[in-house]
Amino acid sequence: MEIEKIDHIGIAVKNADEAKKVFLDLLGIKAAGSETVEEQKVTTTFMPVGDSEVELLESTTSDGPVAKFIDSRGEGIQHIAFQVKDIEKALEELKKKGIRLIDKKSRKGAGGANIAFIHPKETCGVLVELCEK
Ligand code: ZN
Repeated sequence: MEIEKIDHIGIAVKNADEAKKVFLDLLGIKAAGSETVEEQKVTTTFMPVGDSEVELLESTTSDGPVAKFIDSRGEGIQHIAFQVKDIEKALEELKKKGIRLIDKKSRKGAGGANIAFIHPKETCGVLVELCEK
């Protein structure tokens, strides 16, 4: 599997507008657009930082995966996303190695990327997203 770079770091927040103020006003990051991914019950806001991005994740419902994450762990880093050249090939490789996957096939994520998550038990407790753009 060829990882090209850290594509983005996902941060679970209760209120993306409030969080955006911190990243824009305090840290001087330039804003990017927001997008709601209904399937994941989340609104994402991507903020470019050099070659990578910070992704703010705000749940659209009280029972979505991001809401559950905040309930149990509070706000903070929720996942790290690695960009790969060929996501289906990467998933096949991981399956052969017996790695547990949350997504056995890739699906559409924000920005039209193909994404898939690896089970955090396999990666030192860190939720890892693979993405292909
Ligand atoms: Zn992500």
